[in-house]
Amino acid sequence: MSRLIVIMLDGISADSFARRRAYMPHLARLAERGLVVERLAAEVCGTSFPGRTSIVTGALASESGIYANLIWDGSQFRHATPDDVRVETLPAKARRAGRSSAVIGYGMVRPEDADLYKAPWWATNIIQRSRDAFPLPTTHGWRRAVEHLDGQLDQHRLRAGLQPFALPDLDDKLSRAAMGDMQIINLATAVATAPDAPDLVMTEVLLPDTAQHYAGYDTPQAFWSFSYADSLVGHLLAALELAGVEEYTLAVLSDHGHAPIEKALYPEAIIPNTTFACEGSMLHVVTQSAAALAETRARLAEFGVLEYSNEHLPPEQRQQVHCFLAPESCSFEYDPAQAAQGPIGEPRLRSSHGLRPGHPGDERFMVMVGPQTARQRLPTARASQVAPTLAAALGISPDSFADPPLLEPASVGV
Ligand SMILES: [Zn+2]
Repeated sequence: MSRLIVIMLDGISADSFARRRAYMPHLARLAERGLVVERLAAEVCGTSFPGRTSIVTGALASESGIYANLIWDGSQFRHATPDDVRVETLPAKARRAGRSSAVIGYGMVRPEDADLYKAPWWATNIIQRSRDAFPLPTTHGWRRAVEHLDGQLDQHRLRAGLQPFALPDLDDKLSRAAMGDMQIINLATAVATAPDAPDLVMTEVLLPDTAQHYAGYDTPQAFWSFSYADSLVGHLLAALELAGVEEYTLAVLSDHGHAPIEKALYPEAIIPNTTFACEGSMLHVVTQSAAALAETRARLAEFGVLEYSNEHLPPEQRQQVHCFLAPESCSFEYDPAQAAQGPIGEPRLRSSHGLRPGHPGDERFMVMVGPQTARQRLPTARASQVAPTLAAALGISPDSFADPPLLEPASVGV
């Protein structure tokens, strides 16, 4: 039976993967052996929850319901959670096919869809945000995921000699991400090298996204984050070799890209008293009347912000939620203190994503290596092709997906 390990490295762009591979020797070695998608399109709107959801569903955002990090629930914008995903995920499909799975720190999969489950370490940040200065409602789905305790996973941890997961409340976001990621990969490695390892192991590394957001694109901190993420991939590879695990497919990919941001736009200074959510360079706005929408359009247009198609939203939301797009190299930020100073300022996030559907900066990469995966270069692929490719590598029929897998069926091992 085919085994599959998926590692999502958050926010490494196609451009960084092509130009900065010197910082990623383990990935470079994998890329020499396997399938490489050089420019993998991001799911709309190019932010993290839609990206993660697309990887495990292959569905368009309008079908999965995860069209943004913050989705409209009829009365407010709130964080999307795994409970909001409207279509079946890969671990759930695996279960239906009689295959076992472990979701170790990977976002947007429900605890009950996997045989072993550990919530993403960053999910606690989302819950804590309800206590922040600018609170967003705590969403039940993430609380449920974080509170999910898995005794069986604890057995894997003990067998591997790992201490219980512990993340100090560090002020430095980069240190916190590095510590969270390392422990998640250690846990995923313990599971993947176990004698009774599940058929599918999914995990992720957040640091590259955090480092680029706060330090900027193509900076020393970004390169450090790429090397750190790459070393965690190497850590897993070494442990698999040591444990004598040879027959598996490994897929490494990002959820979206990154690109430099030069200016921040503060919507509350431009469209005060309006309900909105910022998603990188895209803005979702709820208006109560045609007149209010017309005024919103006019005010945003003064800053070069234009209305954009909202077809990435589920059909029933398209009357209420409208989408706008910032000018090139600008992103939207929710920051009342900055907004009080004026509508435009220095960006808090100096590199970002969610730039525009089809924007090259949103594009990412994928590498896949396995016993039946031939060395192959694909210049481009659609976001919807990832999930069927993973299913095929796992030996699950990809027929239920809209798109065919990237692998030739003959090269897929069952
Ligand atoms: Zn992301």
